[in-house]
Parts: sequence; structure tokens; C-alpha cells
Amino acid sequence: MITSHIFAFCSASPQADPNLTLSIESFPNNVGVSTKHAASRFVESAVHAQRPGSSRFRLSDQDSSATRVTATGPLFKNGGNEQITMTLAIRILGEPGRDNAVYVTVDSGQSILRLLFDCGSGCLEQLPVSDIQEIDAALFSHFHMDHISGFDALLRHNFNRTAQPLRLFGPCDAQQVLEHRLRGFTWNLVDDMTGRVEITSIGRNESSRVTRFTKEAFAHAHDRHPAVFDGCVLETDEAVVEAIVLDHGCPCLGYRVTEHERVNVDSESLRQTALPPGPWLAQLKDGSVPDETEIDVANSRYVVGELRRKLLQTTAGSRLAYLTDFRSEGDALSELIEFVEGVDVLVCESNFGNADRELAIRSRHLVSDEVARLAESAGVGRLILFHLSDRYSHDEWFSQLRDVRRIFPNSHYPKEWDALFDGG
Ligand SMILES: [Zn+2]
Repeated sequence: MITSHIFAFCSASPQADPNLTLSIESFPNNVGVSTKHAASRFVESAVHAQRPGSSRFRLSDQDSSATRVTATGPLFKNGGNEQITMTLAIRILGEPGRDNAVYVTVDSGQSILRLLFDCGSGCLEQLPVSDIQEIDAALFSHFHMDHISGFDALLRHNFNRTAQPLRLFGPCDAQQVLEHRLRGFTWNLVDDMTGRVEITSIGRNESSRVTRFTKEAFAHAHDRHPAVFDGCVLETDEAVVEAIVLDHGCPCLGYRVTEHERVNVDSESLRQTALPPGPWLAQLKDGSVPDETEIDVANSRYVVGELRRKLLQTTAGSRLAYLTDFRSEGDALSELIEFVEGVDVLVCESNFGNADRELAIRSRHLVSDEVARLAESAGVGRLILFHLSDRYSHDEWFSQLRDVRRIFPNSHYPKEWDALFDGG
């Protein structure tokens, strides 16, 4: 049914080339393909998406003169899913035109990394308290009010974190701003508390981390740890988080999350060896077991390295980038494109429409076309737009998305906003 829907549109569209064919096995909700070049990019992102549980499809473009094919379907319904891959999930908190935050989880199978990007007013009310209490790190782009107004809710549920510190990251003024946020309360009755907060400020070439203790009412900075900043913010069992310094009139950080590569046993290769599955497979996947180790499998001796070469398959982890409140030009733009190149998902601000370019330049933001061109140049899989401005009406938000899709078709508002954009 979906297939015929799309073909019907192709033949009805004056812009569609009759020689362009779409071969579709199963199609996601809505997709626009604007040029042959975009079509091939779209196929690339389809390849990315071919994981268990995702749609499989194929596009074939037989005529290079094809100009525009747009799949039908509700334009403003999100084409994807909050669950970006089997292991990476994104949730946009807050409403369109209001403060936002982005909650990201990376599930390694053994453990879950929980990250919060920025923390606008009221955003954490959308998360269960148990999730807020398990946030591993809050990463701030910058400290304009709309990005930190919800900080008190984060602190309220985490001011006495004992198992591991509450980790906070931000640009070079992070120490100063967050010290004020932490100390802006009366903290008696905390003498017996053993919680702590770690604050890391990140500059272009250097970073600095300090620890503040609950029992001291966060008044003193301990263990000052200055370091050369090489781009890596945080490395955990699940993923690596990196940052890039952007220009928003003030320093602002863009972030990239890269899940560790996954090592799996290839079931077909295992079948060919006729070896029985068992705990020995876990030894193959365990990086701490040296290649030259010998193990017993089905009453025979095998060298781990040889079995690894025969049986293990490595797949790259998913990647996500988070960018908001910045303008980039010249060398800085090239550096940024490299930073987000090929990520599966780019979550990016959509603060200004093309008509308000002057205003955007003055407040160091991007306009719609610039966001779209960034996604296109970097060849990202999917673009999720957030951080909309309340200076615009619903209709204007619709046209902003339309403008972005003209350049980068696989662009969406967050799934969480579907109900608000219903009927669009
Ligand atoms: Zn800002």
C-alpha cells in the first residue's frame, strides 16, 4: 500500500522524472529525496539503519536528471523512532518553543550510560525520578538561562550522590557558574553526607576538573585537575563522549557520543566449525583474554586468537552529535563538519528561519538552510531539529522544517512532538 502511494505521487508530480524508479521492500513513515545525490546518501543511511528491528528498503535511481521525489505521508510525523538503534536512544525533553534538554541512553547489554545534554526549565519533570538519579553526566553546551534553568531539579535528586559523583561538564565558565548554582541554597544538615559533584570546564586546548563535597555545602574546590584537552570529555564502558568548542558569542560546546564497537559471534561461521556454543564464546569476546591463550572446546585444544579470527565479527558503534546555539564559518565550519561527519543522528537547533538571518547572525545562531547544509555536508544519517523559537507560529515552524527538508530530506522534529504537530 505504501509502495503504490509513492508511485502514485511520482506519476502525479510534474517535477518527478518518469524514469526514476523506487524499489521498496518496506518504507519508513516519510522520506523526501530531492536529488540523485541525496538519493545515494539516503541509501547510505538506509544501510546504517539495517539493524534488527529497523525497516529495510532500497531506492534505485536510473536517471541522473531526476530532480525531486518526495514520499507522501504525514509531513510532520517523525519518520524514525526514539530508539535510534538497538542500543542508542534519544529523548527530547521540553516543548517546541520552550526550553529543551536531550536525554540519551547507550545500552551496552551489560550496563546503560545515561547522559543529559543541557537542562532547560521544567524539562526533567518529564523523566521519572529514578532516571534522573541515574544520570551519569550532565553536559552543558553553554550557560544561557534557557539551557540551565532546570538545574535545580537535577541537583535536588542528586545532591548526595555517593556511589559515583554527579559529573557536570561545560565550557570554560563551568566552574564559576556551577559553583554559584550549587551554593545557592542553605545547606545545613549535610555534615554526615558523603556525596560529591565533579565539575569539568572545557576550553579549546585545556580542561580543568574539580570535586566539591556535599558535606562542605559545595563551598570548596578539591583535587583541581588541569589537563590538556584532546577532544575527549568522558570515556565509559559504553561509549566515548567528545566535545568541540563553538562560537555563540560566548564559548559553547558541541558534543559527539560514539558507542564502542560491538563484537559478536558470527552464527554462520560458528555453525561451519560445528563447535557447540558455550561459555568459551564469552572468553573470545573478553578483550582481557590474550590471543595466545589455549582453551578447551568439546574436548579439543584451541588457540583463542585463531578462533577469534574465524568467529568474531566487529561492527562500528552508533554515533550521535548534539549541537545548539552557535554560528560556524570558514575553518571553524570545516572543523565542525569533520566533527559530525557520518554520525547516525544529528540533534541540532532550529532557532531561526531563513527570513531572520540578520537576527540569527547578531545572536550567533544558524538559520534553517545553514542547519540543513551542515547535515548535508557532513553526510549525517538523520537530522532531528529542536530548540525552536517562540517568536514563530506553528505554521512558521512547519515552513522551517520544509525549508530544511528541501536541502536535507531526512529531517524531523522529535517524535515526542508528534501530537503537537498532528494534522500538519
Ligand atoms: Zn544561547
